[in-house]
This record gives sequence, structure tokens and C-alpha cells, in this order.
Amino acid sequence: MTKSNKKGVLIVISGPSGAGKGTICKELLDKRDDLYLSVSATTRAPRKEEIHGVNYYFLTKEEFECKVSENDFLEWAEVYGNYYGTPKSNVDKMLNTGKNVILEIDIQGALKIKENSEDGVFIFILPPSMEELKKRITNRQSETQESLMRRFSSAYQEINYISKYNYGIINDTVENAVQKIENIICAERCRVDRIKDDILESKEGFIHE
Ligand code: 5GP
Repeated sequence: MTKSNKKGVLIVISGPSGAGKGTICKELLDKRDDLYLSVSATTRAPRKEEIHGVNYYFLTKEEFECKVSENDFLEWAEVYGNYYGTPKSNVDKMLNTGKNVILEIDIQGALKIKENSEDGVFIFILPPSMEELKKRITNRQSETQESLMRRFSSAYQEINYISKYNYGIINDTVENAVQKIENIICAERCRVDRIKDDILESKEGFIHE
């Protein structure tokens, strides 16, 4: 298969609830215009500030299952009792226009993508400490007590999966974490296996034999 640096990089970001993935992704998008954040579908109820089509596509269970049967998702998973899935259509379109596409998804989804994609870059976001994680999860007013407990106990299990990822980033400050992800994007776009076909195609332009 011909690889081209004209194609964007698929960046999969996971980490436990409260690690700060959402804030990091938002900051990255505000900073750079070469990124596209995939909007997932979910059967979870919208939080107060969330908008359909911006934060998620909020679907009923029946609508979600219909899309699963039509093979509309790149991956999907059940997380904390709700379905979440990545719609296929926009991801390929954006990668082909050269945008780097970010998927902020759970570990099950990331592993499914890893099985099927030779090109993805897998980044795991960690909290500075478990104590800090507990504080961040507890401060989320939007969650019920049951949901908070479930998210916190999952976080302990999830951290074991870091070994399946290519990069681990400790979110000590959002600024540091964002800078590290920008460095990763830069390095990934320079990887020889991504650029070699483009260079060999046009080598007369800059290699003197
Ligand atoms: P939240 O309910 O806090 O928005 O998200 C709960 C979890 O679902 C987070 O870990 C988030 O990364 C994950 N998630 C969001 N969208 C998707 C998706 O499309 N697929 C999968 N597998 N997980 C997702």
C-alpha cells in the first residue's frame, strides 16, 4: 500500500475518566487548524452544557443499534452502561484531506482500532496521581454517586492498559500535555514510513545524484 504524508495521522487518545482528555483535546483544537476531532455517537443522556452534533450525537438505543447493524461505526463499545461509537464517514474523509484526526475514545474502542489499523498513533493520558484523579471525578457535579464510583473503580483497572499504547502522557498541566502531543504529531508526520513514497516520487526536486 502506498503511504503518503499528504494523508493525516489518526490519533487515538484514551485514559481514565478525570485524566483530562477532554480539556486537552479542546486546547489542541483551539491551538491548531490541522486537527479534526471526531464527534462520537452515544446513548448517554446529554449533560447540561452539551450540544447534539457538537459534543456527541445523542441517539436512542434503537437508533444506535440500527447504525451498528448498518456497519456505520469504525468501532463502538459499551462504556459505563451506555453505548459509544465512532462514525466512520467523517474520519476517512478528513484523513484524506490531510487533517490529523483525533478520536477521544475508551480503551475497548482503541484496541479495536489498533487491530484494524496499521497507521494509528495511540496516546494514553494519565492523571498526575490517583488522589488527584479522585478529586477531579468527585468534582464533576453532573454525575450521580453511582456513576462516580463506577468511573473511579474503572480508572484503577484502565491504567493497566497503558502498555498497549505507543505514548503515555502525564497531565500535570494542560499546557505541558498539549505541548507533548504536538511534539508527537510532528514526529509522527516525519516518520520515514509515512513520507518515503512522497519523497521518492518527487526526489529530483531536492536530491542531487
Ligand atoms: P463521557 O460519558 O465522560 O463523555 O465518556 C465516557 C467514556 O467514553 C470516555 O472514556 C470516552 O473517551 C469514551 N468515548 C467517547 N466516545 C467514544 C467512542 O466513540 N467510542 C468509544 N469506544 N468510547 C468513547
